[in-house]
Amino acid sequence: MKTMTNTCAVCAKPIGISMLMCAKHWRMVPLDKQHAVVGCYGRWQRHTGPKKDLLELIVKYRNARDAAVASARAADANSATGELL
Ligand SMILES: [Zn+2]
Repeated sequence: MKTMTNTCAVCAKPIGISMLMCAKHWRMVPLDKQHAVVGCYGRWQRHTGPKKDLLELIVKYRNARDAAVASARAADANSATGELL
């Protein structure tokens, strides 16, 4: 049986299947970007309207997700060098 696995988008830590990143990195994402990811994902998953609108919802989610991952990576790089945020 194949086990579903998922890893953090920033580090390689194993995380729950419904998560984007581990708790440590998720906490590095500014709150507005966290809300954008969760909101866009929910609108995409709950979408029951015309299929033609799906692509736009997916693009919005991916953009929000990429921005959140970039923020966490930047914060992680800063903390690795000992720089204060
Ligand atoms: Zn991580």
